[in-house]
Amino acid sequence: MKSLGLSEYVLDANAFYQGLSFLSFTKSYTTSLVFAEVRHLKGSYSLLETLVETDNLRIVDPDEKYVNAVYGVTIKSGDSIKLSKADISVLALACQLNKTLISDDFAVENAARLLRISIMPLGTKGIKYTRKWISFCRTCEMGYGSYLKDCLICGNKLKRRFKRVAPF
Ligand SMILES: [Zn+2]
Repeated sequence: MKSLGLSEYVLDANAFYQGLSFLSFTKSYTTSLVFAEVRHLKGSYSLLETLVETDNLRIVDPDEKYVNAVYGVTIKSGDSIKLSKADISVLALACQLNKTLISDDFAVENAARLLRISIMPLGTKGIKYTRKWISFCRTCEMGYGSYLKDCLICGNKLKRRFKRVAPF
């Protein structure tokens, strides 16, 4: 996983599956369709709720005209059959907000190029594990971006540790 800095990003479901620790040091956007898909992720529910409450994760649905524009381009290119409704929604949102989309999904990546959306893949292909520093709450067993000092959920001091991150 790359360091993402402090920019704002639009996240597809894949980005959430890659791990949630980066979410606590960046402002992100996703759509309600993607959020519905990822909120069941094991151990992530309270973190997702907290990120939404603290406004670090904003759930925004794109305007109809952007959704239609994405359909128009991807039907023409043949990508639409490989894209879920959730995929279409994040592509449309990235268009609308003019922000970088984070995704490791090949069909989404391809469609993003056609739509001139800037896209950032998270995974490091060909490498089995990457190691990165994270901050970790012993009470909540929750990992965060390494710059955070206190747990967003319980407020306890975080420990730093190395984590092996498995890219999908
Ligand atoms: Zn905690």
